[in-house]
Amino acid sequence: MTGTSEAGSGVEWDKETLLEKDRQYLWHHITPHNPNPMIGVSGEGSWLTDIDGNRYFDGMSGLWCVNVGHGREEIAQAAAEQMKTLAYFPPYHSHVPGIRLAEKVNEWLEGGYRIFFSNSGSDANEVAFKIARQYHHQNGEPTRFKFISRHRAYHGNSMGALGATGQANRKTKYEPLGTGFQHIAPPYCYRCPFGQKEGDCRMQCAEAYEDVINWEGAETVAAVIMEPVITGGGVIVPPENYMKRVREICDKYGVLMIVDEVICGFGRSGQRFGHQNFGVRPDIVTMAKGITSAYSPLSATAVREDMYEVFKKGGDSHFRHVNTFGGNPASCAVALKNIEILEREQLVERSASLGESLRGKLEALKDHPLVGDIRTFGLIAGIELVEDKQSKAPAAPDKLAHVISECKKRGLLIGKNGDTVPGFNNVLTLSPPFVTTEEELDFIVLTLGEALAGLLVPAE
Ligand code: PLP
Repeated sequence: MTGTSEAGSGVEWDKETLLEKDRQYLWHHITPHNPNPMIGVSGEGSWLTDIDGNRYFDGMSGLWCVNVGHGREEIAQAAAEQMKTLAYFPPYHSHVPGIRLAEKVNEWLEGGYRIFFSNSGSDANEVAFKIARQYHHQNGEPTRFKFISRHRAYHGNSMGALGATGQANRKTKYEPLGTGFQHIAPPYCYRCPFGQKEGDCRMQCAEAYEDVINWEGAETVAAVIMEPVITGGGVIVPPENYMKRVREICDKYGVLMIVDEVICGFGRSGQRFGHQNFGVRPDIVTMAKGITSAYSPLSATAVREDMYEVFKKGGDSHFRHVNTFGGNPASCAVALKNIEILEREQLVERSASLGESLRGKLEALKDHPLVGDIRTFGLIAGIELVEDKQSKAPAAPDKLAHVISECKKRGLLIGKNGDTVPGFNNVLTLSPPFVTTEEELDFIVLTLGEALAGLLVPAE
């Protein structure tokens, strides 16, 4: 099949010409220079079509982002109408979709926040770090500059966000990164870093924050940053009261809590935001991906209303940060339409019930000898592969590659924790669109089962 306009590419080149030009001009993200990339041409609901006409179930919603599914005409129309009406306006002024979206995001956060728009999740976290530091400066505590984040977490690609990231493989060749980032062990119950066993959990993973804050000197710590659940770093789900305990410790020491909702936000967790599952109110919330379901780039940093007041004192007190495309009118119009769809089709509730259902269906895989642990959170699942259940030695990378490729042959795209921690890239990930059906969930689990079964066939 050629990449003609009927395939949706709008280009008259055939596949070989496209691949030739791809190899000549394009630099792909985070891949070892794949000479044979998939060329996607169209999407509908939870399904994608490539240039050969092959259809794939989008088991990762792209990169954890196309939550309302592909092919939504009304989102395309909202973008087109906004571009025709007002394509751009500088972000130190205002525009209608920006004002409406700020109100809507605040409502989804249950009120009490100011909204600063940027372009990407990384941007949103950089803004959070800068706001946290400046807030302390203006509150007479200029020595508070450190951030505590977790090993295995990912917070973005820029020098500060990568500094916060706790994944060695992503960092080593780019150091020195932003300074002032201290890391703490994650709440990883399957491999408890504190040696505790199920039933004997004293939540040392949360208590450790108090130690680290004291050891660093509370007067030097600006904030902690955490996802509600570590997603890309291996779907690491904390004990139920973990976030609440960290919140208490933050309050005790005047440390701000930044919650990175770049993946968990906008329904992925089964609630509007991931932290709402744990009954905490963050000081700063960052969000991206699901805010537009990736139909257009946009992110936001929501800051506690009373913190904003500190930046309004006049003179030198304002936040000296601008980004040209931040809160672009078309992106805001797209986000508003995306949220309208989430509300109208009750997709957050659907994400919760699909997540429950997926959790139940995945039980079918738990006795496979190489499945060490299955973890879910909302409509996110992580399947940790091991060499054997006893030793819990992480499965070798070729085993994960095998499962991913066998799934792809059967029309299912799944993910794995990124190029994250040496020796520990052993978690398969799922994050399907919220429009997925029960039958499609069955297809995911059946296909995964078949692909996993291939690992047990002795090599010839
Ligand atoms: N935070 C989290 C939790 C993420 O998963 C990501 C990206 O995957 C980011 C931040 C960075 O977002 P972006 O790629 O839009 O910069």
